[in-house]
Amino acid sequence: MTSQTVNILCSCGSDKFESPRNPKASDVIICARCGVQKKYRILQKEIASKVKKKVEADFRRMLKKAGFK
Ligand SMILES: [Zn+2]
Repeated sequence: MTSQTVNILCSCGSDKFESPRNPKASDVIICARCGVQKKYRILQKEIASKVKKKVEADFRRMLKKAGFK
């Protein structure tokens, strides 16, 4: 299985954030476009749930292709 990268994406659509080079969970990162501030820990959670959903969707598609219902 290939590893997937999920970019941090602001709700304004920008993926540019001002953040420390190695952000810690307690750090706040700031959207470079709209200036929204987010806790890195919360972003990590959002990303994790997005990845999980994508993996589940891919898995279901794969089963369908293989003829499972
Ligand atoms: Zn933004």
